[in-house]
Amino acid sequence: MIQLNSQNVFSKRQVKAVGLISGGLDSTVATRIIRDLGVEVHGVYFAMPWGCCDKGKAQTAADTLGIPLVVLQLDERYLKIVEKPKHGYGSALNPCVDCRIHMFSRAAQYMESLGADFVFTGEVLGQRQMSQMRHSLRWVEEGSGLQGRLVRPLCAQLLDPTIPEQQGLIDRDKLLNISGRSRQEQIKLAESFEIHDYPNPAGGCLLTDKNFARRMKDTLKHGYRNFRETVALKWGRHFRIDENFKVTLGRDAEENSALKSYAHPDDHIMEIPDKIGPTLVLKGYNPSEEILATCAGLIQYFSKHKNIMTPISVEYWLVKDKNNLRSIQARILSDAAVQKVSI
Ligand code: SF4
Repeated sequence: MIQLNSQNVFSKRQVKAVGLISGGLDSTVATRIIRDLGVEVHGVYFAMPWGCCDKGKAQTAADTLGIPLVVLQLDERYLKIVEKPKHGYGSALNPCVDCRIHMFSRAAQYMESLGADFVFTGEVLGQRQMSQMRHSLRWVEEGSGLQGRLVRPLCAQLLDPTIPEQQGLIDRDKLLNISGRSRQEQIKLAESFEIHDYPNPAGGCLLTDKNFARRMKDTLKHGYRNFRETVALKWGRHFRIDENFKVTLGRDAEENSALKSYAHPDDHIMEIPDKIGPTLVLKGYNPSEEILATCAGLIQYFSKHKNIMTPISVEYWLVKDKNNLRSIQARILSDAAVQKVSI
């Protein structure tokens, strides 16, 4: 007959943790390790316009692991970090250390609201040059206010013991000592857990993309009126006509429609009347005839009318006054002229 120890059965409370879930290999394996220690795991996914991973994949991973998942949207506050990161940028405009501090401090708030004991991630010591070196892991822990409560199960044995380990809420011996860029150990672990469907570890964060970084820098330099304007940077071809006027042209029907729906009420939209060609969004107040003709020229340049040396006519309207349709003749632009204004 099993002897129940009333001390253990009734005094041992449920340990709870918040796990950052990207849907990738590392966070999935880390979650499985923590969950298998009997911890009640609550997943958090950070949705950002320039995110590392995919929300759908994060949800699939959470479903497979049998844990709840909340999605926290990054907003204007995050843009301030991109503008001026305390710990600098990675290869492009990616402020990885500050980005993590921001995300983890929001995870810390969520931890508190749930009455959870700690936050954990799938980070691996030495895996990423900027954000996963020993010193940057420490900066993130300190900056997020999670001192002693940030557990990295995949490399915990290479780091100082955290509070939940010291308090015996989780068994340090069951945590791992993985380091470096190779993912062989995580792949083996995933196989042993029969986890087969996880996305490639390759990035996906547009802030690491040099072309996107150029557009974002231009926008941060010249100003934006709302967050949506920066979201729209991921679509289309971008041009700066001068200090006051910025242009985006869709590259296909999907981008044309996305750009239109993200246009600011004070933007102008320009299109060829038969709609066969790029939609153009012009940002800037009270454009002159010359600016409008240049914009129309960009539409002609990127349409089937490019090699016809006769200027086409383009319709335009102010987003907030779409019934007031006007038209203008395109200015024929050379390759060099287009190149000159390209961002
Ligand atoms: S790559 Fe860096 S900046 Fe981009 S989401 Fe990941 S941590 Fe943040």
